[in-house]
Amino acid sequence: MANKRDYYEVLGVSKDATEDELKKAYRKLAKKYHPDANPDNKKEAEAKFKEVNEAYETLSDPQKRKMYDQFGADGPQGFNGFGGGAGPFGGGNYYSYTSSGFDGFSDFGDLGDIFSSFFGGSARTSSRQQRGPRKGADLNLNMEISFEEAFLGVEKQIVITRPETCEICHGTGAKPGTSVTKCPICNGTGTVKQVQNTILGQMQTTRTCTNCHGTGEVIKEVCENCKGKGTVRKQPKIKVKIPAGIDDNQTVVLRGEGEPGEKGGPHGDLYITVRIKRSSIYSRQGTTVMCEVPITITQATLGANLKIPMVDGSSEIFTIPEGTQTGTKFTIREKGFKTLNSNSRGNFVFTVIVQTPKRLSKEQRELLEKLSMTMNEQPPIKKKGIFG
Ligand SMILES: [Zn+2]
Ligand SMILES: [Zn+2]
Repeated sequence: MANKRDYYEVLGVSKDATEDELKKAYRKLAKKYHPDANPDNKKEAEAKFKEVNEAYETLSDPQKRKMYDQFGADGPQGFNGFGGGAGPFGGGNYYSYTSSGFDGFSDFGDLGDIFSSFFGGSARTSSRQQRGPRKGADLNLNMEISFEEAFLGVEKQIVITRPETCEICHGTGAKPGTSVTKCPICNGTGTVKQVQNTILGQMQTTRTCTNCHGTGEVIKEVCENCKGKGTVRKQPKIKVKIPAGIDDNQTVVLRGEGEPGEKGGPHGDLYITVRIKRSSIYSRQGTTVMCEVPITITQATLGANLKIPMVDGSSEIFTIPEGTQTGTKFTIREKGFKTLNSNSRGNFVFTVIVQTPKRLSKEQRELLEKLSMTMNEQPPIKKKGIFG
């Protein structure tokens, strides 16, 4: 790709042009190169018009302009396309750090908004190399909880290992009392210009300065506590509140509990993916709790008041009618899992399983034999109709 013309040059303004000056220059040029105003050399005018638009779109946006000044049109990692809205700046959250993160785990404040974002997929922010403040890396871990804990919600304390800002040098990596100085190789810009000879002639490219790794700064004497890294590994205890109703494989996000940012950037986030242990009694489908309830042949035949154990440890009395068949499902409304971020609840559905007795007392046997004499014929095999 041929080198693009400098955007300031395109608009004919100086590097420190004000927003007003940019706008004026753009209006003038847009009028001049509008394809409709140039019927004789439409093609050329169109190309110019596009170029002017692209330049203005970038320079009129303060953030894009800053990036452009820093990295040029090809961007820090060879991206181009300041033009379209779908480019790397389309998302808009590249620069916007909304959370400040909380320091220390004692200050847990309002937990509500920490758990406000649950998601199935991944929506992690990508970290692109840049010299300004940079968000710290996100941390991921799994946590196993019981079925009942998922039902009721639970607060757990976990110990994680993560780098934390060195308290001796406050993250600079320089020994206290010594200073951080401008990198002499790149003169503090973090990038080094290179001239390459190509078949198209000489081309100027920029690459990240290897002396300072793009930071633009070098440390004279390193901090002994962190060996110049600016961070030390710690194992803080963190309280994690798992909301009632969470499902297997869902993730809780603790904003600001990831690795510390660079150059004053915010902390990354901590993503905790929840694994729910199987219950020996209950199973789950979405917010519905399901279980099997064994009943006797007499309960099935005569009807009964059943005591059904709920997940929270309470129980519900449920009346099944006489003549209940094995495999029949009954629903207790709103005794299932809570829906996340809502007050609604799923249902509790139980399936009765009629247990044929394997051992009988003498008395029971006599009673059953008497009963059997009154109903000794096999019931007829039912023909299935269209509704059967
Ligand atoms: Zn240090
Ligand atoms: Zn440098």
